[in-house]
Amino acid sequence: MFAIVDCNNFYASCERVFNARLRDRPVVVLSNNDGCVIARSNEAKALGFKMGDPYFKIRELAEQHGVTVFSSNYTLYGDMSSRVMETLRPFSPEIEEYSIDEAFLNFAHVPVDQLTAHAGEIRRTVKQWTGIPVSVGIGRTKTLSKVANHIAKKRPGTEGVFAIVTEEERIDTLDTFPIGEVWGIGSRWAASLARHGIATARQYAELPDDWIRRTMNVVALRTAWELRGESCIPLELAPPPRQSITVSRSFGRRLSTLEEIQEPLIAYISRAAEKLRQERMVAGHLLVFLHNSPHAKNEAFYGPSLGTNLPHQSSDTAELIRHACPMLARLHRPGLAYKKCGVILSDLSPEGQAQPGLFDQLDTDRSSRLMQALDRVNAQHGRNSLVYAGSGLAREWAAAAAMKSQHFTTNWQQVLHVRA
Ligand SMILES: [Mg+2]
Repeated sequence: MFAIVDCNNFYASCERVFNARLRDRPVVVLSNNDGCVIARSNEAKALGFKMGDPYFKIRELAEQHGVTVFSSNYTLYGDMSSRVMETLRPFSPEIEEYSIDEAFLNFAHVPVDQLTAHAGEIRRTVKQWTGIPVSVGIGRTKTLSKVANHIAKKRPGTEGVFAIVTEEERIDTLDTFPIGEVWGIGSRWAASLARHGIATARQYAELPDDWIRRTMNVVALRTAWELRGESCIPLELAPPPRQSITVSRSFGRRLSTLEEIQEPLIAYISRAAEKLRQERMVAGHLLVFLHNSPHAKNEAFYGPSLGTNLPHQSSDTAELIRHACPMLARLHRPGLAYKKCGVILSDLSPEGQAQPGLFDQLDTDRSSRLMQALDRVNAQHGRNSLVYAGSGLAREWAAAAAMKSQHFTTNWQQVLHVRA
């Protein structure tokens, strides 16, 4: 048996934990640079706000309805996510952290007649310890647990828990479940299945294996087996090793000169190198890219990139900056209004296993002590307390985040104040 625990409206729920006035009120969270809607409370969904709605289009309507709008606060959401995951650990010997707001749990140890009670206990505990509401779906396979979770969220009277245990429950549930909502199918397959008259998960599960393999693929076949109750997607207990680290963001306003763009580039490299060191990795390849707006009226799209193999694998911020800046200079063309740049670190190896360069002149010991000191200062005093001057101090290029909440759980200066 598998359970999936999924946080309800996760980003919106995180914001509510620290603002009791928002309980039962419409809340939406915007993407980077206050672009478009990426999370909605149930009340905001009921008002008709959709995922992906551009903010400038819904701004007035949101004001009319008293919707509270937030810029995204990934520091808060990431930390709340790890609190939810920690809370789940005692409930199962095996947990797969599937995404920032979802985890699969092995439920094999739970007696069948206690499945929903155990799930209810998880819901209560996560709510009490973290303030985040969750829904739990239970099934014989991961795919069936995802179906059950969907129902736990949508169907009134489920109390946030739904289990598909018996054969009768499985058939009953799949009989009315739209195939497009099934995990791993998606709207593209659903559209082509509809042309063959297949609309429900039950119809799909009853298709011959041969037909699915011929018309679709092996992954889709696995989904059919899972819907039949045959588990073939195991829990992934160790996350696959990381292949690359990307840091890339839109600027708050258009930037034009090389000097202007160099600042955010250095800031993004600093962040990427910090992530690299957090994971105790070093990178051997560095790629830099930038582009103007694809929708610009007066200029053609220009979005080049340039990569280079580093002389030795490294996680030293200064070393990466030294290689990135000349690449940016080669990519930059004057006169364009740039919207975004970014950096991708790849060819990653665990620290200590790195191949030293043949003519390696870098004092790696000194470098790693310097980086440790940098990371320690920033851990203690908050991110960006100590930065490379090249990233600028005013950071006028930073993306708009006009409605961002505080870092309630990760910065002592920003903890919630409660007045007696
Ligand atoms: Mg969710």
